[in-house]
Amino acid sequence: MFIDKVIIHIRSGKGGDGAISFHREKYVPDGGPNGGDGGIGGDVILEADASVNTLGAFRYKRNFAAQNGEPGGGNNCSGKNAEDLIIKVPVGTVLFDNKAGRLLCDMTQDRQQFTALKGGRGGRGNQHFATSTRQAPNFAKPGDAAQEMDLLLELKTIADVGLIGFPNVGKSTLLSRVTNAKPKIANYHFTTLSPNLGIVQYKNANEFVLADIPGLIEGASDGMGLGHDFLRHIERTRMLIHVIDASASEDRDPKEDFDIINNELFSYSEKLKERPQIVALNKTDLMSESDAQELKAYFETKGYPVFLISAATGKGLDLLLDYVVKILPETEKSPSFFTPDEIIIHTPARTDDFAISKENGVYYVTGDMMKRILGTVNLDDYESAAYFQRVLKNKGIFAALEKEGIHDGDTVDICGLQFEYYR
Ligand code: GDP
Ligand code: MG
Repeated sequence: MFIDKVIIHIRSGKGGDGAISFHREKYVPDGGPNGGDGGIGGDVILEADASVNTLGAFRYKRNFAAQNGEPGGGNNCSGKNAEDLIIKVPVGTVLFDNKAGRLLCDMTQDRQQFTALKGGRGGRGNQHFATSTRQAPNFAKPGDAAQEMDLLLELKTIADVGLIGFPNVGKSTLLSRVTNAKPKIANYHFTTLSPNLGIVQYKNANEFVLADIPGLIEGASDGMGLGHDFLRHIERTRMLIHVIDASASEDRDPKEDFDIINNELFSYSEKLKERPQIVALNKTDLMSESDAQELKAYFETKGYPVFLISAATGKGLDLLLDYVVKILPETEKSPSFFTPDEIIIHTPARTDDFAISKENGVYYVTGDMMKRILGTVNLDDYESAAYFQRVLKNKGIFAALEKEGIHDGDTVDICGLQFEYYR
C-alpha cells in the first residue's frame, strides 16, 4: 500500500507570565503598579505543502515545540507574542490524535492549515489588578500552560489519475511506458497486489501522479480480495483511465468487462459516476483496425472519450496524454479520502477545566487551571487572597462545590492547599 505513517510529539508555547512591578522614581514614593502582560505562546499549525512529497522529514525529527510567550516587564511593557510553529506535511496527509485514535483533519489542499494546538494566553500583569482599595497589587497572573499531543501522520498518496481495469489488460505496461515507475509486468493475474505510482512528465503540462490500481475484480465492492482498499484509492483520484484489452487476447468480452468494473465502482460509491472516466482500448497491435474502430464507436455511444492505444508499442499514447493533461486542470482537486461525517474537526480547547471529587468528607479540586491559579497567589497577602477567592467564584468552582453538596465548615483541598469552606 502506498501509506506511510509516523508519530510526532508536538507542544504549543506557554503563555508568558504577567509581571509584578511598581513604578519607581526618585522623590515619588509608592509608585503605582506597572507590571506588563505576558505574550501569547505559539500555536502548532500543520500546513499541507504540494512541494513536500513524503513524510521522510519526520524520520529523524519527531519532537516539535512552539516558542513560549515572553514574560511581561516593568514599565507596562508587554512580553512579545511567540511565533506560531508551522509544520509542513505533504498534501494527502491525514492527521490523527494518536492517543484518542481520533481523526482530526484530512489535508487535501495545498496550503491548507490545521491548528493542532493553541499557544497559552499570556498572564496579565499587576497593572490590571489595581483598584481604589487595592493600590499595590502584589500579584500577577502566570501565562497559560503549554499543550502537548502525539500526532499520527498518515500519508495516503493521492494519485491524480487512476488506471483501472481487469487483470492483464495492460495497466502496468501503460504505467511503465509513461512514467519512471517499474511495476511488475507479467502475463498472469494478480502480479501486482499494491498500487504502483509514477509521475508523468508530459510536454509542458504540470506533472501528475498516475496510479496503477490493481485487484479490481468482481465483488470488490463487497470487500472481495483487497477490494475496499483499492476502491478507496480510486475514490481519491481526480480521473480514471479505464484500460480494456480490446483484442480480447484472453477470451474476455471487452464490453462485459467494462460493465463489470463500473458496476463495482458505482455500487461502492455513487460519487464515482461523476468522476471523469476515459476508455483506453489497449493491445490494438493484436487486432485489425476495423475491429478496433468498431469497439471505439461502441464506447463512444456510451458517452466516453475513447482512445486506441498499444501500451506495448506506444501507439496512441500521445493522444491519450494530450487529452488527460487538457482536462485534468478542470477536475476537482484531490477529492477527500473520507466522507464529511468521518471527519471530526477537532478544535483545540484551552485547558480551563477542573474536576471535583469527594473523599472522606474532603472536597478535592484538581486541574491544570487550579495549579496555575495557585502558582500566582500569595495567600499571606490579603489582596492576593481576596483575588484568589474571586477567581474561584468567577471560574464556577464555588458553584460546582455547592452542586456537589458542600456545607459551611467542610474542608476543601485545592491541589494540596486545604481550607474550610464558608459562603
Ligand atoms: P495488468 O495486469 O493490467 O497490469 O497488465 P500488465 O501490464 O501486467 O500486462 C499483462 C500482459 O499483457 C503482459 O504480458 C504484457 O506484456 C501484455 N501487454 C500489455 N499491453 C500490451 C499491448 O499493448 N500489446 C500487447 N501485445 N501486449 C500487451
Ligand atoms: Mg499490473
